[in-house]
Amino acid sequence: MAADASGGDLMVTRLGGCQCGDVRYALSAPPLTLYACHCLDCQKQSASGFGMSMPVPRSGFQILQGEPEMWRRTAASGRVVACAFCRTCGTRLYHAPDRNPSIVNVKPGTLDNPLGLIPIGHVWVSRAHPWLKPSIAGLVFEEQPDTFEPLFAAWKQRNELPAA
Ligand SMILES: [Zn+2]
Ligand SMILES: [Zn+2]
Repeated sequence: MAADASGGDLMVTRLGGCQCGDVRYALSAPPLTLYACHCLDCQKQSASGFGMSMPVPRSGFQILQGEPEMWRRTAASGRVVACAFCRTCGTRLYHAPDRNPSIVNVKPGTLDNPLGLIPIGHVWVSRAHPWLKPSIAGLVFEEQPDTFEPLFAAWKQRNELPAA
């Protein structure tokens, strides 16, 4: 059994859902990475200080109950992302990028037990709230990284470490 360095078992099915409970999902594959984004779009989307993204293989993501509403957003880069949210309570559940149909970008705050998921890095740190800066560690990018590969590689490396 693979265990992650933060004490959770990454191979155990994780359950999650929206705030009202209408939409429920299961993850049957371990996350590919986990990072925080401090860009203003993520602050707006999360209605909070930053956003978190947890890409998982699409084959390891199943909706168990309910049907999320989709909003298609075009980013400044021109890339289109389908954003899934609960039509009753509005909770954002995941993003599905058009250019990479093999992954689903789960919003990890919707997990039933999100504790123990420690981001491997931070992007758009130039927009981060000053009070958050002391907690920003790991791979740090001032703006959008050219590629997210380092965030995938570092996550893989962390989770291949033997369990304590
Ligand atoms: Zn809901
Ligand atoms: Zn962002």
